[in-house]
Amino acid sequence: MKTVFELSVPGRRGVEMPAPTVKKNDYDSSLLRGSLRLPELSEQEVVRHYTALSKRAFGVDDGFYPLGSCTMKYNPKLHEKLAALPGFADVHPLTRADRIQGSLALIDTLSSYLCGITGMDAFTTQPAAGAHGEFTGLLLIKAYHASRGDTARTKVIIPDSAHGTNPASAVMAGFEVVHVGTDASGDVDIEALSSLVGADTAALMLTNPSTLGLFEKNVLRIADIVHKAGGLMYYDGANLNAVAGVVRPGDMGFDVVHLNLHKTFSAPHGGGGPGAGPVGCKKELAPFLPEPRIVDTEAGFRFNYGKRSAGRVTSFYGNFAVLVKALAYIVTLGGEGLAASSRAAVLNANYLREQMSLHYPIDTSRPCMHEFVVSMKKLKDETGVTATDVAKALIDRGIHPPTVYFPLIVEEAMMFEPTETESKETLDRAAEAFGEIVRFAYTDPGQLKAAPVTTPVGRPDEATAARKPVLKG
Ligand SMILES: *Cc1c(COP(=O)(O)O)cnc(C)c1O
Repeated sequence: MKTVFELSVPGRRGVEMPAPTVKKNDYDSSLLRGSLRLPELSEQEVVRHYTALSKRAFGVDDGFYPLGSCTMKYNPKLHEKLAALPGFADVHPLTRADRIQGSLALIDTLSSYLCGITGMDAFTTQPAAGAHGEFTGLLLIKAYHASRGDTARTKVIIPDSAHGTNPASAVMAGFEVVHVGTDASGDVDIEALSSLVGADTAALMLTNPSTLGLFEKNVLRIADIVHKAGGLMYYDGANLNAVAGVVRPGDMGFDVVHLNLHKTFSAPHGGGGPGAGPVGCKKELAPFLPEPRIVDTEAGFRFNYGKRSAGRVTSFYGNFAVLVKALAYIVTLGGEGLAASSRAAVLNANYLREQMSLHYPIDTSRPCMHEFVVSMKKLKDETGVTATDVAKALIDRGIHPPTVYFPLIVEEAMMFEPTETESKETLDRAAEAFGEIVRFAYTDPGQLKAAPVTTPVGRPDEATAARKPVLKG
């Protein structure tokens, strides 16, 4: 398929710009840029090009998308409408506070609901993604230790099952990463942790449920060990789909948390954004939150520039439209609804896992949370069919593959997250498709090696595509 640049014909136009209504400025021509080399096309050519492109993509609106850790759930279209209301969408970010009281009230209300959901005392909505939230949270932790003159805390402990962004964020924030292992049941190795903590421990970063889809049953003990050593507990709440409305990180002993509104709270996820990774913390850390903070005063909402802030992390106040959608979602569901949706996510995951275990050995002895991990190692050993092959064969059956080869501690990992919005029929069909693929692995593995056969591109070189993308002609 040609790129929009290759389709370009010099001089062709899709729109006529209105005549300028302001006086033309005579800039020094040496300051002007040369031609922008924008594609030149008619409106119809542009519409056809992007319609054709959209038909080659697969999204939540096309079918089942059980991408583990990523919560590709259906996001109500109503929330898009609300975020597009002119009163929200047309506000200039430099408007004076007294003229955007509604928008500031929205941020303030959302922050207080997020405090309620997570058990934290204060929130910032500035960070633009999950990893950005981690970075921000770690800056708070750093500023907190520094404010007490405790500069020896240079290490952040991270379990080997953690999301890859955790160690990356810790390094970006200037910490040294120390890995702690996982025991046979998939929980943090308590003994190893006890021997790792000390006067140099700044924090432990933990995802609970873990990336194995398991609820860390020793979480209170872990928090106790880290706190006794003087460290803080960081909660990676990117995926809150199993626990929102049910348990709160603040009650599990965490001091700082980030959430991905673009996973759990009704903003579409993927395609590069926009997202929002708000960060919450306990009151001891609140003075270090990014500035400006929005404060509710007698004279209305105002911006407050705190002297002890760890600094600003985005221009303005984050991706505002994402915040609108999140608030709409929380208000629509209410506390009971949030809990019901978390429970449905857990039920769906356990149901799908149970149905899949009829076709392939999967350990179902311990209930999973919103997602679960299956190792295709046995299939690979016996038939040569890998997790990649199974994923590709699912595409031909109208299903987006689950996350593969993550978490790294499971060989031939496939990580399924069905989410709460899928019906029993969809889950049954997915389990059937999986069963059919497993049967083919033993009878006709060659067919699976050729999959997918229904897509314009079959097996692209993903590493090269990510590292050397060709984005224009
Ligand atoms: C998605 C995810 C992240 C990172 O979020 P981004 O918005 O992609 O930066 C971090 N941790 C976990 C557990 C995640 O699932």
